[in-house]
Amino acid sequence: MRSKYSSLSLRTAVKASVISAAVLLSSCATSPLGRHQLLLMPDSQMDEMGITAYQQIKTEQSVSRDGTTNNYVNCVANALLGALEKQGNWEVNVFVDPSANAFALPGGKIGVNSGLLDVAQNADQLAAVIGHEIGHVQAKHGNERMSIQTATETSMQMLQALSGEPSPEKQQLFGLLGLGSQVGISLPFSRKHEAEADIIGLQLMAKAGFDPRESVSLWQNMAKAGGAAQPEFLSTHPANSTRINGLQHHMNDAMALYNNAKSSGKSPQCRR
Ligand SMILES: [Zn+2]
Repeated sequence: MRSKYSSLSLRTAVKASVISAAVLLSSCATSPLGRHQLLLMPDSQMDEMGITAYQQIKTEQSVSRDGTTNNYVNCVANALLGALEKQGNWEVNVFVDPSANAFALPGGKIGVNSGLLDVAQNADQLAAVIGHEIGHVQAKHGNERMSIQTATETSMQMLQALSGEPSPEKQQLFGLLGLGSQVGISLPFSRKHEAEADIIGLQLMAKAGFDPRESVSLWQNMAKAGGAAQPEFLSTHPANSTRINGLQHHMNDAMALYNNAKSSGKSPQCRR
């Protein structure tokens, strides 16, 4: 009982100190996998930042009008989004860009570079990448990074920097949101965040009826595609044995979710 009281008072103390530091809206949150997180940014502000960043990328990069490619990518993304517990409005675009890359942003925005389709060789592998990116958003990794690195600024100041003229601060914020080459800055997520997005993505693809074993093949393809023409995605997402072991460690559970999805008729037919 004693430890319960002391942990309660510690929690109260932490909360009080955060409030007294006027960092606003502290929340002792947990990620979808149960990890404790410090999230200082209101969800609404994170959504606004994601939407602002996405708008900017859409004006700077060319959006694919290819019907077959769009149908294919949307088919995979929609199957994944349909398997989320909390439904929302998501926008998906394919960008004409030969570098293999994809991203997802708070506010329900997904971008897939056309070059990713050379590395992700089937719908299951594409689902592994998009699922991973959705995992970062689901687990609010952008919020967590901003909370740690920019605790002195208010979310309003950040939003102003984000929607204003180009500046180093703006680049930094875009980077923290999980955008890399698009904004010329690379701030890879931590190993902890990567492992978490891998597992959330693995479960999500399995629930949507994509074969979770293909996530391992995807990372093997990424590694093979390294070398001279290294996929963009690899620069922030090392395809190493730690990652593959982590996925394999959760494969039995994912296979159970996959078999459930199949027996309930979930079998996305996405053709390129
Ligand atoms: Zn990642």
